[in-house]
Amino acid sequence: MKRKPVWKGLKTGVPHDCLSDKCLRKWSPPPYQVIVNDDYYCPSCVLHHRNNMNRFKEGHLVWSSHVPNTFYLFQITDPQTNKKLFKFGRTQHLDSLKRYSTAELKGYDMKLLLQLRGRLETMTQIENWWKEQAELMDLFSRFSDESFHGLTECLEMDETSLEDFMAYSNAIEKSDRSKFEEWNRQYCERLQQFIDKRVSSTIGEQSNVE
Ligand SMILES: [Zn+2]
Repeated sequence: MKRKPVWKGLKTGVPHDCLSDKCLRKWSPPPYQVIVNDDYYCPSCVLHHRNNMNRFKEGHLVWSSHVPNTFYLFQITDPQTNKKLFKFGRTQHLDSLKRYSTAELKGYDMKLLLQLRGRLETMTQIENWWKEQAELMDLFSRFSDESFHGLTECLEMDETSLEDFMAYSNAIEKSDRSKFEEWNRQYCERLQQFIDKRVSSTIGEQSNVE
């Protein structure tokens, strides 16, 4: 992706273009996301609705397999029925609380129960597993507030199933953790080489001027 050279301070979104010719998305992430590069990828290429696992095996999105991603689970209270439900999902954010507005977090009494960070492929695998299990066990329970974006991803679960689901998710994350750490290490190395190169070329330019 390419950041367009416009920076209007910490309150205005920063325009970006995706460079993938199959995507070409234009979007303006908030400045904090631009500074914290852990959260910093084209949302169309990396995120939400693309849950098919084949994209990690072939085609132009194979690279996204290693991108950091977060799987989360919230307890959420339906304000109409007062029922406690469980909302799962994924986000690019390191901190899942940033995925929801303060009004939603407070209004629905949302409590973060589980947060796993790992490779996008692994997090997608965990989310797909939740969906499959929930369908098999008929756990989906529609949230009553139509304006809530995740109203179809809420589950009604007993304590035992909840513990089983969380234990399974933790195990999958753990089994892939060394791979994720290795990717992160290599990524930081590449980033450092890039910075070093830029610093040395700037020094070169300065000495030419003198
Ligand atoms: Zn894109």
